[in-house]
Amino acid sequence: MTLLCARRELAERLRAAPVDAPEREARELLAAAMGLSVQTLRLMPAEETVPEEAAKQLRELLSRRLRGEPLQYLLGEWDFFGRTFSVGPGVLIPRPETEAVVERALSFLQGHPGAAVLDLGCGSGCIGLTLALEADCRVTLADLSEQALARTRANAAALGADVEVVRRDLLQGPEEGERWTLIVSNPPYLTAEEMACLQKELTYEPPMALDGGADGLLFYRALVEQWTAALAPGGMLLCEHGDRQGEAVAALFRAAGLRDVTTFFDLEGRPRGCCGRLQGSPQQRRNPLFCIEIETRFPV
Ligand code: GLN
Repeated sequence: MTLLCARRELAERLRAAPVDAPEREARELLAAAMGLSVQTLRLMPAEETVPEEAAKQLRELLSRRLRGEPLQYLLGEWDFFGRTFSVGPGVLIPRPETEAVVERALSFLQGHPGAAVLDLGCGSGCIGLTLALEADCRVTLADLSEQALARTRANAAALGADVEVVRRDLLQGPEEGERWTLIVSNPPYLTAEEMACLQKELTYEPPMALDGGADGLLFYRALVEQWTAALAPGGMLLCEHGDRQGEAVAALFRAAGLRDVTTFFDLEGRPRGCCGRLQGSPQQRRNPLFCIEIETRFPV
């Protein structure tokens, strides 16, 4: 069978499944079965024959995909913010909407060089590792799941990110004296109702990364009620949320006394995340006369 035939047949089977992007998935699966990158596959002559070993591998991958296993788990890796992350059962697959959270974190970090950043519930590590590689900051990534911690460590090593990886339970709250300039989290946020009728692919992802309790807000309550105490003055709490949770999450942020509470949107214009700041700046805390000095130097 030629590459062209294999790819067409594969796309047909995937279209009938149905999957959302059959052509793209066909290319990805064929490349994976041949042990090549999609880019290299594109450069190969269409009439080239698929070796028997690769054809066997392809049949296996296709049947797993048709049973509903996510493409990303079959490939074992997925791109996020321009880097490739190792993924697999036990960690949430990095989603494009989470890039909006990273964008927001990066713009905050630009004004806070050397910031201490905590990624709570890090999964594959895609948020915290991206921040460590893109910004001037010290990042700690935390998760309760050992599988997630192992995956984060592997990704940190593969990407050359110098970070700390620790086992923590978000629901247990911070330890005495912890201070973070930025706490960022993509917590589990699906409601009990949503958990009860998951799309087939989602049933392969770890429930503990998806299940946000009865109303999907369990982890936001813990974040605002417990973790804001671990923010440095002027520090930011930044979370992803579901596209129907914008108002509820912003209300929780405000009720906790956070300032400048802002909902932000993903590339498709859906509300996707919330951020808020703890009052005060480090300078003000160190020098209570700071504001007065400003007033006397710049009288209005
Ligand atoms: N974005 C995921 C989904 O709905 C949920 C991830 C999460 O709960 N943090 O598919």
